[in-house]
Order: sequence, then C-alpha cells, then structure tokens
Amino acid sequence: MRVLKFGGSSVADRAQIEKVLGIVRAAAARGRVLVVSSAHKGITDALVRAAERAAAGSYEPRAVIERQHAIAGSLGCRADLLDGLFAELRDLLRGVHLVGELSPRSLDYVSSFGERMSVRVIADFFEREGLPADAYDVWDLGFVTDAVHGAARPLPGWEARARAAVDALPAGRVPIVTGFVGKTEQGVVTTVGRNGSDLTATLLAAALGADEAQIWTDTDGVMTADPSVIAAARNIPHMRFEEAAELAYFGSRVLHPSTLLPAMAASIPVRVLNTNRPEHPGTVIQAVGPANPSPVTSVAYKESQAVLTVTATRMFGAVGFLADVFGALARHGVSVDVVTTSEVSVSLTAHDVAALERALPDLEGLGRVRVERGRTILAVVGQNLAVSAGTGARVLHAVAEAGVNVEMVSYASGSLNLQMVIRDEDIRPAVSALHRMLFE
Ligand code: ASP
Ligand code: MG
Repeated sequence: MRVLKFGGSSVADRAQIEKVLGIVRAAAARGRVLVVSSAHKGITDALVRAAERAAAGSYEPRAVIERQHAIAGSLGCRADLLDGLFAELRDLLRGVHLVGELSPRSLDYVSSFGERMSVRVIADFFEREGLPADAYDVWDLGFVTDAVHGAARPLPGWEARARAAVDALPAGRVPIVTGFVGKTEQGVVTTVGRNGSDLTATLLAAALGADEAQIWTDTDGVMTADPSVIAAARNIPHMRFEEAAELAYFGSRVLHPSTLLPAMAASIPVRVLNTNRPEHPGTVIQAVGPANPSPVTSVAYKESQAVLTVTATRMFGAVGFLADVFGALARHGVSVDVVTTSEVSVSLTAHDVAALERALPDLEGLGRVRVERGRTILAVVGQNLAVSAGTGARVLHAVAEAGVNVEMVSYASGSLNLQMVIRDEDIRPAVSALHRMLFE
C-alpha cells in the first residue's frame, strides 16, 4: 500500500487534477493506493476569511461557494454534487454571523469544508474518467482525534480502527480521503493545523503500515533553497529524517515540520514529488539508505520573528537567571527557537509576538528587556555540518561579504544546523550569497 498526498496547488483546477489523475492511475496499476487530498488551492484561506468576516458582521458565503462550484463545474461534476455541503456551510456561517464570534471550534468546522468538498469533486471526476474512486471523510476511516482545535491529533489506539476500516474498503476502487480534518469521539469536527494534510498522510501511512508516503507538490522534491528566492536552487535526492526535519522546521516551504514524525517513528520512507513533473525522482527521506554526501544540504529561513533580549542588571553572576527567563516565557506559552547567552544577558527568538508581549511584564521584573521585530532565522542545514571543518567560518564570511549583518549566531555541538539571525530585508542577499558559495 502506498499513500499519495496531493497538496492544494496539485488540485488547484482541472488542469492540475488531470495530472493527478494520470499519477494515481499509474500508481493504482502497480498496487494498492490511498489518496489524501488538500482543498483546492486558496479555498481554505477563503473559508477562513468568510468565517472571520461573518464573526465581524458580514455574512458572505457566496465567494467561496462560487469558487468551489466553478472548479466542480469545470470537471463536469453534476451541478448538485456539493449542494448538501454548501447548505451546511451557509448555515454554519449564518450561525457564526448571528453569535458574532468565531471560536477555535467553529473555525475548525468552517475550515474543514475545503477538503470535504475537494475529495468529492476529485473522486467524481476520476470515476467518470474511468478510474473507479470513492470520496471519504478521514474520520470515517478511524481518524478520531482529541479536541485540541487547530492542532488536533488522533487518539491513542486509532491505528487499529484505521486498519480495519481501510481493509474493509471495496477492492479495485481508489479511496480519495480528506487531509487536514478530523472528528472527536463526540463527533465535533477538528483540524490538525494549517498545511496539515501532509501530516494526515504520514499518520495514515504509519497506521496502515504503508510501504511509502508520497507527498506530491509543485517543486522537484526538497530543494537546496526556496526556488522562489533562488532560481539556481536544485533538488536534494536523498535525505535522512533528522536532516529533513530540521529543514522543515527552518522554513523549507515543502514539508510541514510535524509531517515527518509519524513516518520517522514507523520507518516509512517519505518521497517528495512534483505533480508537474512526475518523471522527476524528487527527494526520498528515510531513516537509513544513502546519506547526503555534501557538507551542507540546504539553506532555509523563517522570517517575521521577534528577538527578545533580557539583560540582567542586578543579577550579575546570579544563579537561576536563565531559569527565571524561561519560566516566565513558558508561563505565557512562548515557544523559543534560537537562544544565545552571555554572562549578563540572554537573547532569543520567538514567533508568537502576542504571547511574547503577554510575558513582558514578568520579564521586566528580571532585567532590562528589549524586543526587536522583523528578524529572520537563517539556517544552514546539513547532516555532515558537524564533521566538516571550516564550514561555519565560510558561511559567516559569505554572509558578511553580502553586506548582511548577523545579529545572533547559534551552533550546538554535533548539530545539523547553523543558525543566524538577520533582518527580514536581508533574506535575499544572504540566501543568494550562501547558495552561491555552497552549491553553485
Ligand atoms: N487545506 C489546508 C490548508 O490550506 C490543509 C493543507 O492544505 O494541507 O491549510
Ligand atoms: Mg500544503
């Protein structure tokens, strides 16, 4: 069994869905497949927008429904195929409008419609094109989650239910399954988080003991840098899980950070492939197998971070300063990425500025506090970074040569990843300079 996941851009419109049909047809001819699909590109955003507008006083379901209706129409679906879901969505948005508030629970419910609509449209199209297919909401295949809205995870023991449900599916027909969504035991709709369809796919692959999870996207696998920034970015053929996980975390646009965990735990290879160029081998990510020979695998970045610096005015040499700072951050739910320290201060980056601001009063009790925004974590990631002498010096030199000021540097012993903090506006020159030096 192979799990094939198609992202929003892969199922954006008829032209893309025809490519997906070709890929799935070829895969199904070679063995059992289960397809996981995202919503059509832009639909989830449009749903979220409609929900927010409804809560703010304007009931406007039309735009998103018309957009979905147009895609279904272009695929030749019956005009009433999605009527039930459209009615449910209208009712729901009317409810949000009436109460004038959007709880995380309601937001999950509204967001879920994108995948629920896309799988029905795709299965219907495949069937008429001669590839027998059925649409499924993933919760009907055992994907029962906790109630953590926006970050729900399946309940322990769900795997057996999923296996039983998938085993019972009719043979010779391709299941097209919703990514992203879930349901609690009580039947409340949840989501695993934005861009979470990849995670649905790897969770299912792990639960089903699949041979492979394929993530079909719009780049030739994982690249040495973001191809929208660096034209010369090139494919990385093989990666180990830890390396790919670092990269995902530090802003590779291709994989969502938590995607790899289930596959890692179950030792299932993840293959990242290009829907627009299915013949390209993409990237294979696995626990063992060929390692990446180059000292550096990729350059990634995460923009719009805040840097917090706390300088301990009174507590020079005092014990417990760092513990106090991190204690205050933990109490306010601030998740920290890069940390650097000196004898009298600590600087760290965080993404959630609102949480950071809530923590400020507590932090001000510990020392002088400064917050700078608009910063980027630039990360050079590589399996062999730790064992290749001089790479760090070359990296910093290349960034300096590009006229970019590095405000923080962090590199842990044996780490797969050298991190620098720069200003957002310096991303392009810094990434270009690094890519040229390391890969071109
Ligand atoms: N449709 C969802 C989103 O846009 C999930 C996904 O595409 O992976 O976030
Ligand atoms: Mg995606």
